[in-house]
Amino acid sequence: ENRDRDRDTNSASSHVLIFPLPYQGHVNSMLKLAELLSIAGLRVTFLNSDYNHHRLLSHSDVLTRFSRFPAFQFQTISDGLPLDNPRSAHQLLQLFDSLNATTKHLFRDRLLSLYPRPSSIIVDGAMTFAIDIAKELGVPVFAFRTISACAFWAYFCIPRLLQSCELPFNDEDMDKPIKSVPGMETFLRRRDLPSFCRAKDRSDPILQRVMTETLNAPRAAALILNTLEDLEGPILSQIRSHCPNLYTVGPLHALLNSQSQDHPPTPTQSGISSNSLWAEQRSCINWLDSHPAKSVVYVSFGSLAVVTKEEMIEFWHGLVKSEKPFLWVVRPGLVGLDSGAGAAAVEEELVEGTRERGCLVEWVPQEEVLSHRAVGAFLTHSGWNSTLESVFARVPMICWPYFADQQMNSREVMDEGARRDELRRRADEVGEMARTSVGDGGSSFSDLGRLVEDLRSIGS
Ligand code: UDP
Repeated sequence: ENRDRDRDTNSASSHVLIFPLPYQGHVNSMLKLAELLSIAGLRVTFLNSDYNHHRLLSHSDVLTRFSRFPAFQFQTISDGLPLDNPRSAHQLLQLFDSLNATTKHLFRDRLLSLYPRPSSIIVDGAMTFAIDIAKELGVPVFAFRTISACAFWAYFCIPRLLQSCELPFNDEDMDKPIKSVPGMETFLRRRDLPSFCRAKDRSDPILQRVMTETLNAPRAAALILNTLEDLEGPILSQIRSHCPNLYTVGPLHALLNSQSQDHPPTPTQSGISSNSLWAEQRSCINWLDSHPAKSVVYVSFGSLAVVTKEEMIEFWHGLVKSEKPFLWVVRPGLVGLDSGAGAAAVEEELVEGTRERGCLVEWVPQEEVLSHRAVGAFLTHSGWNSTLESVFARVPMICWPYFADQQMNSREVMDEGARRDELRRRADEVGEMARTSVGDGGSSFSDLGRLVEDLRSIGS
């Protein structure tokens, strides 16, 4: 009882501000962390971009879900971009520039005016400006990266890659091994490096930007990663030599689902919470219900990828010709302009095949879809959240990495089970590891406990 009382007294003065990069994958995982810290009794403020917040409130159950935490609040801030900007992968640099030009100053003012004043900040480590401001104002700052340890480490090693002249490289050298990323010498090729490393010029603005954001991580008091020790242990050791105070709390969605069970109300019929910025088409669950176990190919390229019309038609042919039932997320804005070569027409064969076996939707409750017994494979763009969700659900992946860290993620997945007949066995094994890590006493479970205690002690 005394311990509970001490904990409550300390928690009252710990106020954690959480500030994600304004993208779906980042908002999703950082909101899960916000919910976990709220469950642990900490006061949390979640700082969302105006643009995303409006969408989040329209399409998810966050308001009801977070209403069970009286000390939790949302705040919003401008990302500086006009409303009609699509904020897809093509506008990445524009978003970073805008955050630095506009949001940075707003963030400083907000920090000064927030009451109670945050005792600590968990900021998306891709936004160094927020680390700078927290340090300037003397608020302890933790960096959260939503990417894998392998991807983080590859970004961190960009200066070595440049120095050893493994970067930049020519297209014909894509399959040559990479030697300057310690711990990955046995499997990394040039084509597996984050897509920004394909820049032809070492001063390329995006390459420089992602490198700088990552090299700044050790300036934060700690680094938090959505990964698990058993999956990326050797690379985590490499990272620890630069960022010794490292917490691995992944997969966050699984940790949250297991801890929410003791903290009802459960939010949706499925018990899985939604942080979606698009309206979820739940009718796809009924469609899945009508299919046999492990028969459906689930297809999604995440929230940022933009494909050409030609690529879309090519995938469509493949899916129809596979003769498997398929559930395909065609997000508004997924299909961009054609490449100029003239997109092939949508042939009758595709329309017919889709009518027979396909289900096309704009957005789905993905965690629920992946855990549905009817799903047998996931054709994915290899975003890190999607990868972890698939790992946890033990669904084998077919990877079509699009950009950023996705090339690294797909290599990691391939490394896990390159042979076709091993895929399902390996998916089961890795899924089991993830279950152990979030269970009582598991590595991610324990690291979350340590994080909560450390945040609490800063505030007391
Ligand atoms: N997602 C979803 N419904 C969809 C497609 C994706 O809920 O129809 C979620 C998915 O579960 C994941 C996130 O959107 O949590 C995408 O993040 P990821 O890191 O996989 O890729 P990104 O969108 O950042 O490229």
